[in-house]
Amino acid sequence: MKYDVTIIGGGLAGLSLAIDLRKRGYTIVVIEKGDYPRNKVCGEYISMESYDYLKTICPELKNRNLPLINKFKLSSIGEREFKTILDLGGFGISRYLLENLLFIEAKNLGVVFALNEKALEVKFDFNTNDYSVTTNSNNYISTIVCNSSGRKSNFEAKENISSRVRTNYIGVKYHIKMERDATQIEIHNFPGGYCGISNVEDGKSCLCYIVNSKMLNNAGNSILELEKKYLHQNKNLKRIFDTAEFITKVPVTISGINFRIKVPIYDSVFYLGDSAGSIAPITGNGMSICFKSASVLASNLDNYFSSKISKQQLIENYKLFWNKEFSMRIKLSRYFQKLSEFSFLTKLSIQLFNLFPSLANRVIKLTHGKPF
Ligand SMILES: Cc1cc2nc3c(=O)[nH]c(=O)nc-3n(C[C@H](O)[C@H](O)[C@H](O)COP(=O)(O)OP(=O)(O)OC[C@H]3O[C@@H](n4cnc5c(N)ncnc54)[C@H](O)[C@@H]3O)c2cc1C
Repeated sequence: MKYDVTIIGGGLAGLSLAIDLRKRGYTIVVIEKGDYPRNKVCGEYISMESYDYLKTICPELKNRNLPLINKFKLSSIGEREFKTILDLGGFGISRYLLENLLFIEAKNLGVVFALNEKALEVKFDFNTNDYSVTTNSNNYISTIVCNSSGRKSNFEAKENISSRVRTNYIGVKYHIKMERDATQIEIHNFPGGYCGISNVEDGKSCLCYIVNSKMLNNAGNSILELEKKYLHQNKNLKRIFDTAEFITKVPVTISGINFRIKVPIYDSVFYLGDSAGSIAPITGNGMSICFKSASVLASNLDNYFSSKISKQQLIENYKLFWNKEFSMRIKLSRYFQKLSEFSFLTKLSIQLFNLFPSLANRVIKLTHGKPF
C-alpha cells in the first residue's frame, strides 16, 4: 500500500501530526521504534498556547480534570524567592497519559502504526516521485516523509550531526504526592541545574530536574548522592525530598541532552518537534513547539495535497515558519540554560525580578508563543 504520509517517530510531534492529517482525510503510517503507553522524562507542564489545539485533536482531554496553572515561583540556594502570576499559564498532564490518549485517538481515526520498528533509511525514487522508508522489518512507500524522531535519533540530517555541542545535561523525573498549591509551578535552582515541580492528573505532582552531567560525575555517578550533594542545598528542594511521598521509587532518567538549532527540512523530508530543534525547558515549552509545528505542517501539507501550493512553496512556507517562530527562542534558551547552572546568577535574577517585576514578565513572555 502507498500512504500519503509516512511519519518517523510517534512521540507528541508525530502523534499530533498523524491525527491532524488523518482528520483531513489523508492516509498515514507512523513508524515508532517503541510501544505505548510509556513514561518519558519531562516537566509535564504544557503552555496554555496549545490547549485549544490539543482539545481539537484529542477531545478526550476535555473529560480529564487537569490542573490549570497560573502562578510561578522561583528560588535558589539562600532565602530569597520570586513569585508572580503567569500571563498565559499552562496545565499539567503526565506524558504517560497524554501520549497514550493521542495514540488511542490516532488508532481510532485509522492511522496505521508500525510499532517496535526502527526507521533506518529514507530513499526517493525519481521515476515514481515516491519515498520509501526502510525499517528493520518492512518498507513503507509514501508521497511525503516527516521526521519526528526526537532530539537523539539515528535519523538526523547531516547538518545536524556536524553541529553537535559539547555540554551535556541529564534529566531525572519522579512522580510524587504532597500538599502543595496545584495552581503553582515552581522552579528551584541548585548548583549545576534546576528542578521544576507542578501538578499533573490525579493529585500527583511531577518533580523533574535537569543538571549538567559534570555534577553527576562529581557525585560518583550516583543519583542519590547528586540529590544530597547539590539539590538539597536549596531549602525548598530539601523539604520536598524529606517530606513528599515518592510514587516513583526509581526515577526515569535520560542523558546526553543538549539544545541545538537544527534544520526543519533536509532532502525534502519535513522535520518537526525536537528533531528540528530542542529548546531548554527553563525558557521554553518544547511540547507546545511540537503541537504548533504539527498544526502548521498539517495545514501546509493539506494545501499541497489539494494542489493549492507547489512542493517548492510547501518547503519554503514551512522553513520560513520554523525559522521565524522558533530559531531565536531556541538560541536564547541555550544562553538561559547555561546561566541557570550558576546559583549566584539565579539569586541575582531573583533580586532583579523583585525590584522590577515587569522584567520577569517580559522574560516569561519570551518562553511561549501566542495561543493557536
Ligand atoms: C528534562 C526535560 C524537561 C522537559 N520539560 C518540559 C515541560 O515541562 N514542558 C514542555 O513543554 N516541554 C518540556 N520538555 C521538552 C519536551 O519533552 C520535548 O520537546 C518533547 O518531548 C519532544 O517531543 P517529540 O515528539 O519531538 O520527541 P520525542 O518525545 O523524543 O519522540 C520521538 C519518538 O521517535 C521515536 N524514534 C526515534 N528514532 C526512531 C527511529 N529511527 N524509528 C522509529 N522511531 C524512532 C522514539 O521512540 C520516540 O517515541 C522537557 C525536556 C527535558 C529534556
